Amino acid sequence: MELLTCIHQQLGKLTNPTLKELGSALQGIPNIYELVQPFITDPDQFSYGRNVIYLNDQLEVIVINLPPHVETAIHDHGKSIGCAIVIEGKLLNSIYRNNENQTERAAASFVQKGDCLFAPQGLIHKMSNLQDERMISLHVYSPPLLNMSNYQEQTASDILPDVV
Ligand code: FE
Repeated sequence: MELLTCIHQQLGKLTNPTLKELGSALQGIPNIYELVQPFITDPDQFSYGRNVIYLNDQLEVIVINLPPHVETAIHDHGKSIGCAIVIEGKLLNSIYRNNENQTERAAASFVQKGDCLFAPQGLIHKMSNLQDERMISLHVYSPPLLNMSNYQEQTASDILPDVV
């Protein structure tokens, strides 16, 4: 079966889905590794490929192609929750917390092929590909993405006082 048909069957009927439902739906798509291949796009306006393949009033589904040694900006997902399944390669997910307008890395963990990354509402994170091969992932957000924000990480030079 074609990917968009599977997505429509697994996800199309969900209303206000939970993270668990999104994860189960993604992991329930049979043969997902092969089905995603035709939807992988090269980087264009971003440093990574980003292809919106399905959109309705409840859901947005995106295929991400993160080239070797490339990472996303630190971002949130507005009011959306999200789940991503790794299709190829390995992903480093770094989680940040915002403290008095300072953005600090709080945790980081690898997500392997076939595993899911869960993004509850309000999560601030960055995805990095530290490998020599591309990383492909399939993401589903609910509701569709709107008003995402980017963040700048606090670095040591930001904290040190200016030397006069
Ligand atoms: Fe994200």
